[in-house]
Amino acid sequence: MESQFYIKSDQIGVECQLCPHFCKIKNERVGKCNARLNSNGVLESVQWGVISSSSLDPIEKKPLYHFFPGKMIYSIGGFGCNLNCIFCQNFEISQYVPQNIDKRRIVSPAKVIQEAKIYPNNIGVAFTYNEPTISFEYMLETASLSKQVGLKNVMVSNGYINQTPLAELLNTIDAFNIDLKAFNDDFYRKITGGSIYPILKSLKSIRKSGKHLEVTFLVIPHLNDSIDEAKLMFEWLSGELGEQTVLHVSGYHPAYLLDNHSTQFNSLQELFHHAKEKLQYVYLGNTQNNEVGNNTFCPSCGNIVIKRNGFRISSIQFENSGNCINCGYGPIVINS
Ligand code: SF4
Repeated sequence: MESQFYIKSDQIGVECQLCPHFCKIKNERVGKCNARLNSNGVLESVQWGVISSSSLDPIEKKPLYHFFPGKMIYSIGGFGCNLNCIFCQNFEISQYVPQNIDKRRIVSPAKVIQEAKIYPNNIGVAFTYNEPTISFEYMLETASLSKQVGLKNVMVSNGYINQTPLAELLNTIDAFNIDLKAFNDDFYRKITGGSIYPILKSLKSIRKSGKHLEVTFLVIPHLNDSIDEAKLMFEWLSGELGEQTVLHVSGYHPAYLLDNHSTQFNSLQELFHHAKEKLQYVYLGNTQNNEVGNNTFCPSCGNIVIKRNGFRISSIQFENSGNCINCGYGPIVINS
């Protein structure tokens, strides 16, 4: 499948314009993500339709806590990523791209939608597990079909994408969870191989589009857990995206090239309290402790609107409109 965003040049071969790396790719070579190949001057999306895993997940697992709470979503992922985070929690599929494609792993967009429609409590399709940006054309085609049959589309992403392709996605994707891995460009450059600025731009564009947005901050001991830096992040989120921005502060476990110890609950709890000073909806993730940062409270009357036990919902106190059942504030969640 030919890539949608690239230019040809006699000197460099092709330049991919899908993500801010702008890889210049010579003939028979691939870009940084290993998913785009210059084949005689044509940039090919070589991982088109290659699926590493698929599963019917609770929407809370994405994580999305304010988008159809309690529903399920058919989730699919492939291989590869355009960042190389040394702490990647999903490195088995994100930092590995099969060179010889097993045709049995290729699933057409029509087949994905056929599967998604089988499940009764399923609201749609989530593009997740690895970085879906690098399968842009496949995601767009699948999401368009999904939209045609009335299903919702979710993208779980690092946000490292250029503005023109993102604008196309905003026509078909209904909800995003975007990682904000630190509030520090130095961290992004050294630890992920990217830069923070395009990601901040993506967050602002998604917010401006009116599509549903939640943000995940994975806290890694000694790398991005400075309280001062985190406070700047929370202030930016509140100031630029609004205090109603949903933030998931998530615990890290040693993985891939990093063996720093797992995030302590105390550290998550402290960040949670600082985040709550700026944002209305803050949650803790990847922690055994269910006491803090699990439920949704109405910012107006303080009632528990959603009570959760892990990804399971034990009580819902909102109207069909998504407004608080007690005081009518909202909508707090998207529910239709
Ligand atoms: S999508 Fe891949 S090939 Fe294209 S610029 Fe990004 S890393 Fe490079």
